[in-house]
Amino acid sequence: MILLCTALLCVCAAGWAETPMHDESHRTVERVHGEPWAEKTGSMETHALITVYDLYCEDCGQVIQENVRREETRQPHDWRVTCEEPTCTEPGRAVRRCALCGEEDVIETPAVGHCYMWMDVKLPNGDVESQYVCTVCGDVAQTRGQSAAQMNYNSTITSFGPKTRELIGGGVWNRVTPLNLEDEGMFTYPLIAGDQYTVGTATVINEKGKQIISYKLNTKKITVHTESLVIYPSREALRTGKNAVAVEFNRPLEMEKYFGDDKLVLMAITLKADFDPQDAGIQSFREDKALINALTKLID
Ligand SMILES: [Zn+2]
Ligand SMILES: [Zn+2]
Ligand SMILES: [Zn+2]
Repeated sequence: MILLCTALLCVCAAGWAETPMHDESHRTVERVHGEPWAEKTGSMETHALITVYDLYCEDCGQVIQENVRREETRQPHDWRVTCEEPTCTEPGRAVRRCALCGEEDVIETPAVGHCYMWMDVKLPNGDVESQYVCTVCGDVAQTRGQSAAQMNYNSTITSFGPKTRELIGGGVWNRVTPLNLEDEGMFTYPLIAGDQYTVGTATVINEKGKQIISYKLNTKKITVHTESLVIYPSREALRTGKNAVAVEFNRPLEMEKYFGDDKLVLMAITLKADFDPQDAGIQSFREDKALINALTKLID
């Protein structure tokens, strides 16, 4: 009994120095708040186990210390592993996640890509059609035979805006999109194929002096062979090619580096692609005169 008292007194002196009012010969106990929980420590080997409790006196009822946090370190994770195989278009993921603290470790494997070959496919109406089909997922990229006559091969696709022949003369219908780099925000423009069809959307994000230019096609069945993105500082540059800058899609650009204070530029997106005008994602194109006029005003 005497030994126990001495031991308690020892703990008292160390832990409760800030509460001198309490009778140190009393017995204190921990009142734990709920279940202990695991917390991430950033380590792939261990997490910490956290217990929060109040210290109170069993003899006089005084609460000596509230919300004391005890951290037991080096507790092993309880890993649960899930795997998602990559597909033709989606990357695969191997994820291990600790069931206790939620720590996560992810390994991504890239999408494997389609594996296309030409195959003769019998249609419901009995006709046989030649399809360029992925042998893994069944995606059909092209067809020929029945619909061969309708395919448009190596067609030019550009973003919406005035035609270059109206700006600088010449015979091609290609369009360029005037941009005002002073206007911040996200801007979208239709993608026009062969001056006849709307096949997708070009997007320009302009924020804090940085630009990202991207495009999206309305159907997977457009096969793009080449793509180019050129920025011209002026109509004169469009004519001569001088001071034009070829840039990349989907990369942050800083056009100020190329054109300084010249904020009015012309964006030329040019794709060469095969497509089937019968495809559901392709609409016939009609020029919006009001939009053309508004864009033309931006040209210096
Ligand atoms: Zn007490
Ligand atoms: Zn853990
Ligand atoms: Zn596939």
